[in-house]
Amino acid sequence: MGRVIAISNQKGGVGKTTTSINLSACLAEKEKKVLVIDIDPQGNTTSGLGLNKDELDATVYDLMINYTEIWDCISPSVVEGVSVIPSDRDLAGAEIELVGIKEREYILKKEVDKVKDKYDFVIIDCPPSLSMLTINAMTTADTVLVPIQCEYYALEGLSELIHTINLVKDRLNENLEIEGVVFTMYDGRTCLSMEVVENVKENLHQNVYKTIIPRNVRLAEAPSHGLPINMYEPKSAGAVSYRNLAKEVIDRYKKK
Ligand code: ADP
Ligand code: MG
Repeated sequence: MGRVIAISNQKGGVGKTTTSINLSACLAEKEKKVLVIDIDPQGNTTSGLGLNKDELDATVYDLMINYTEIWDCISPSVVEGVSVIPSDRDLAGAEIELVGIKEREYILKKEVDKVKDKYDFVIIDCPPSLSMLTINAMTTADTVLVPIQCEYYALEGLSELIHTINLVKDRLNENLEIEGVVFTMYDGRTCLSMEVVENVKENLHQNVYKTIIPRNVRLAEAPSHGLPINMYEPKSAGAVSYRNLAKEVIDRYKKK
């Protein structure tokens, strides 16, 4: 049974895309079959997994708006075991085109339900907003994984995110759970990073992953080579941390 995890936080630059790419690649390294769905019009997950944004066949826009069959929207990535439903700029218009469409909160879910049993994990990279695209991701998902950047304003906007998740749970997807929080861009040399972690743990009564993703320049470089971290620099601190996160995610589902 494929587990669908939406990677979401309406703040930009907190590590959603980096986590989507590298968690997926490290799950595949552990022989899991993964489908990544990029629903951010920026398409950074798409290119970060080695797809050329100028040469895409069908995208998530075609899936959601043009009635393209889901199997025709799935492309192989540079990672063995990871397939992608890519996105590009077209998706930016989807928000408006969805207005007025019947059951528009369920468009992605209806399609993903057709294929999710073929995968161990379906990872959805969300845009930095609580838009209809994000709602579609949360309606499709079993859980929401929230990356939190270790910075001063880490908690800003988080209550809004949790409120949205609860609204979706009440109205659209009663099975939705918060997968947990993963800290990103941790800098062990600063007290601030440590304080943020402690503060969030105290104030946020959610699952917190033991693995903390460090600030690691290799993680920032890898996308420009179209590679995930475990292929770009397999021994880097970034690769080690995403491997650990993948292990934690797998172990959590073993227990369920
Ligand atoms: P989001 O998808 O939430 O907007 P990204 O994953 O795109 O965030 O990350 C924002 C920027 O920070 C990108 O340039 C990315 O390469 C960089 N970045 C993300 N995680 C790390 C990390 N752990 N160490 C160093 N740079 C990172
Ligand atoms: Mg992103």
